Amino acid sequence: MVGADGLLPLPWLAQPLQNALRTQRGHALLIHGPQGIGQFELALTLAQAWLCETEPTAQPCGVCASCRLVQARSHPDLLVLLPEALRESLGWDSGEEGADAEAKASKAKPSKDIKVEAVRKAVGFAQSTSARGRAKVVLVHPAERMNAIAANTLLKTLEEPPGLARFVLSCGAPDALLPTIRSRCHAVPLALPDTHLASAWLAGHKVAQPEVLLAAAGGQPMEALEWAREGVDAVTWTRLPKQVAAGEVGTLAAWPLPRLLDALHKLCHDAACLACGAAPRYFPPAALPRGATLPALNAWSKELSRTLRHAEHPWNLPVMAESLLLQARQALTPAAAQGLSVHSAR
Ligand SMILES: [Zn+2]
Repeated sequence: MVGADGLLPLPWLAQPLQNALRTQRGHALLIHGPQGIGQFELALTLAQAWLCETEPTAQPCGVCASCRLVQARSHPDLLVLLPEALRESLGWDSGEEGADAEAKASKAKPSKDIKVEAVRKAVGFAQSTSARGRAKVVLVHPAERMNAIAANTLLKTLEEPPGLARFVLSCGAPDALLPTIRSRCHAVPLALPDTHLASAWLAGHKVAQPEVLLAAAGGQPMEALEWAREGVDAVTWTRLPKQVAAGEVGTLAAWPLPRLLDALHKLCHDAACLACGAAPRYFPPAALPRGATLPALNAWSKELSRTLRHAEHPWNLPVMAESLLLQARQALTPAAAQGLSVHSAR
């Protein structure tokens, strides 16, 4: 099983793949679990296994004409439904037709949703004759990006699938799916990979101190690798808590808002763990500032959640970052809270 980057396989998916191929029932599977551990890759490998033309094995052979067509992203019996915003990062930028091409031409922000028009097209695809005679596979990732209308459009076909049609959906938040969609699918749970396996994989990708970035990404190796490629390394991450507590904005002001919010949430979580005498999860214990009080951390956590709910708002980013960091400093260092006040960027 090859990773999205085509370099190293994702070893932690071998077992879930075998389990899914062995125990699957019905024509529709729903892979669910944390993001950043290869849901899409597992879904794609399952699709490849269903379409593989070599007689039955535990996984796709990787060498038959069908496997090669899947790897080349051009199998006539495979349709991949992705939000436009994910196409490029997943190396699936081939379907630039209609609305996608128009959006690209108009330089509109790529959509994060799977649109109903695309789902209608997938339904038509599932009903058409299989070109190579094995199956017709529709892959939907992530399924929670279908709104209720799009999901209902798919539902009828999931309930009464045409002859050779098979479906594989992936999902980070099963609760966000229509219960009727969930109940039509056989669930394939995907857990966080073993830490040693994931760290070794990151080290193979030349990530220094992989266990630090792995913890930073909540145990999700693919997310950790993405961070590393975007310039967040273990040294930057380890230094972050004390940098924030000291009021040094530095390079943090240039981070995208979702990443800054994520980092501050994790810092808040770990500082609260420390205040309760529990082990932190995202930062090395020695990296965390001491002395924060639980009431201050709780208040900070609430503020962060409130900001997160409005993360799509067109903030003045430098002002927002400065305000968030000031808020963080006040929560982390009781001394700094005196004489300072929180400014709102809104
Ligand atoms: Zn094959």
